[in-house]
Amino acid sequence: PEAITVQELANRMAERGADLVKSLFKMGMMVTVNQTIDQDTAELLVEEFGHNITRVSESDVEIDIGADVDAEETLKTRPPVVTIMGHVDHGKTSLLDALRGTDVVAGEAGGITQHIGAYQVTVKSGDKITFLDTPGHEAFTEMRQRGANITDIVILVVAADDGLKPQTIEAINHTRAAGVPMIVAINKIDKDGANPQKVRERLLEHEIVVEDMGGDVQDVEVSALKKTGLDELIEKILLQAELLELKANPDRAAEGTVIEAKLDKGRGPVATILVRRGTLRVGDIYVVGAESGKVRAMVNDKGQQIKEAGPSMPVEVLGLSGVPGAGDPLSVVESEARAREVAAYRQELATRKRTTTAPANLETMFSALK
Ligand code: GDP
Ligand code: MG
Repeated sequence: PEAITVQELANRMAERGADLVKSLFKMGMMVTVNQTIDQDTAELLVEEFGHNITRVSESDVEIDIGADVDAEETLKTRPPVVTIMGHVDHGKTSLLDALRGTDVVAGEAGGITQHIGAYQVTVKSGDKITFLDTPGHEAFTEMRQRGANITDIVILVVAADDGLKPQTIEAINHTRAAGVPMIVAINKIDKDGANPQKVRERLLEHEIVVEDMGGDVQDVEVSALKKTGLDELIEKILLQAELLELKANPDRAAEGTVIEAKLDKGRGPVATILVRRGTLRVGDIYVVGAESGKVRAMVNDKGQQIKEAGPSMPVEVLGLSGVPGAGDPLSVVESEARAREVAAYRQELATRKRTTTAPANLETMFSALK
C-alpha cells in the first residue's frame, strides 16, 4: 500500500477534499488536499467519514482512474491556463474582454461568443492561451480546495490610480498558497493620477519584486479601456508558460475538470470541461463526479460544434445524466457498463456517507485505496 493524496482519498469516498482537510486539522494535522497522507491516517479518515470499507472493496472500479502517469515521450506542449485576480473595479472583466478581443481566429470563424466559463484565444504568433472566465478569488480558491489546481498562471490586476487594496493582498496570498506564478498587470494607465511606480513600490512590501526592481515577477502597464499593453501582456504570459514547460499527453483517454455546469432548458445538463490531458471526442463515454454519460455534442467558446478537444481546451459537453459540480473530475472510460458502475458507486458512497458500519478491515480497505 502506498501513500495517497487527500484529494484522491476524498474522490474515492465521494467526499469533499475540504471536509477531509478539516477532519485532519481536528486530528492535529495541517495538510492541504494535494499532500499525501499515510495509510494509518487514511484509515482513520475513512472511519471518521463512516464509510463501509468492505463495500468499498467490492467495487474496484475507481482504482486506475486518474492514477496513471504519462510517459515523458508522450508529452506535448499545451497552452497555459490563466486566471485573472485583483480588487473589485480594478478592471478584471474589462481586461478579460480586451484579451478576448485579441483572438485572431474569432473573426474568421464567425461564431457567436458564448459564455462557457472559460475561453481560448489564439494570438498573432499562433500560440493559444486559455482564460478562466470566472475572475475572482472564490472561484480560484474553491477549485483549489476541491483539488482541482487548474490555473497555471495568475494575472494580478492592480489599478494604477487606486493601488494595492485588501482584495489585491488576498489575491497575492491565494496565488502564493497555490504556488502559481504571477504576472502583475498595472491597469488604467490611461487615467489621470495613474501611478504605476507607486504600485511597484507597494508590491515590494508584500515581497513581490518586479523585474525593474531586480526581482523575477513580470509586470506590464496596460489599459483595458484603451487596449494598450495587451501584446506585451500576452508576450509575458507566453514567456512564463515556456518557463513552466507545460505539457500533457494528447493521445490518451481524456481527463478533465468541470469549470461550470448547469441544467439548460433546451439541452438538458451541460458542463464546461477543461481538458487536462488526452483528447475528448464526440461519442466518448465518461464519468464526471457521480454522473456518467456519452459525449453527444461539444461546443466551443465561439458557439461552434466541434468533434474533439485536446489539453487545455475548454469545451461545453452535452449528454450528461445529471449536473456535476464545479471542480469535479471527468474521466473517459472504456464502456457504458463501466461508466454506470463507477457513477453508481460514487452515488452510493455519497448516499451512504456517515452511516457508520463495522470497523475497517485493513486489507480490504487498502486493496481499494491502493
Ligand atoms: P472588475 O470589478 O475588476 O471586473 O472591474 P471592471 O472590469 O468591471 O471595471 C471597473 C470599472 O473600471 C469600469 O467602469 C471600467 O470601465 C473601468 N476600467 C477598467 N479598465 C480600465 C482602464 O484601463 N482605464 C480606465 N480609464 N477605466 C477602466
Ligand atoms: Mg468583474
